[in-house]
Amino acid sequence: MKLNCDIHTHTIASGHAYGTMREMAEEAAGRNLSLIGFSEHGPGTPGTCDPFHFAAIDKVPRTLHGVHVIHGCEINVMNDGVLHLEKRWLKKLDYAIIGIHTVCFQDEGAEKNTEHLIACMKHPKVFFISHPDDSKTPLDYEMLVKAAKDLHVALEVNNSSFLKKSRLNRDDNYRTMLALCAQHQVPIIVSSDAHDPSWVGVFDDAIAFLEQEHFPEELILTKDEHRVYEFIGLDESIFR
Ligand SMILES: [Zn+2]
Ligand SMILES: [Zn+2]
Repeated sequence: MKLNCDIHTHTIASGHAYGTMREMAEEAAGRNLSLIGFSEHGPGTPGTCDPFHFAAIDKVPRTLHGVHVIHGCEINVMNDGVLHLEKRWLKKLDYAIIGIHTVCFQDEGAEKNTEHLIACMKHPKVFFISHPDDSKTPLDYEMLVKAAKDLHVALEVNNSSFLKKSRLNRDDNYRTMLALCAQHQVPIIVSSDAHDPSWVGVFDDAIAFLEQEHFPEELILTKDEHRVYEFIGLDESIFR
């Protein structure tokens, strides 16, 4: 399986990532990707950019090293269920990813954790949920997938999760999530979650897992950049 988009990546702006946009795009070009998305960590992650980072994001060329560029933010879901990025910055973004990070989230059990996620999914700029795979902050996948369907949100299979030993019950959680996504026709994205240029477009473990589970390729948005644009309602004329 060949995927040619990577829309969950971090640059030096995230504080604990090590490539510039141009270095990341150059690596994406080398791996024959057609689209890269930069999704810096939002407020709550130690050392990440001030939201003012997004103020002039529209001044970055829409094509770098021949690769199309879109801008997002990986916004933290916190225990109050509030989307932690102000409207004035949200409207600058092409898309938002939301995700739970234990550095700024206390586990409240599967039902409450899922309710907090769903509350944040309601904003129209939120299109994706990052790495919903760690039982340290368990989720109710039935609730989550049905809400994703209703709210036009896609779930992520995160390649970096397969490289970390710390993700509790990752395989079982992805298996459950993917079966429900296939059943309810909820799309997914596959991402590197690159924090260094060398990780851009690296999806090997995620792809192997999806193939093993016989997940339908037509539900993988990042297989084709046009699927991504359609899903987030992006007018492709911005690249001309
Ligand atoms: Zn994350
Ligand atoms: Zn990330």
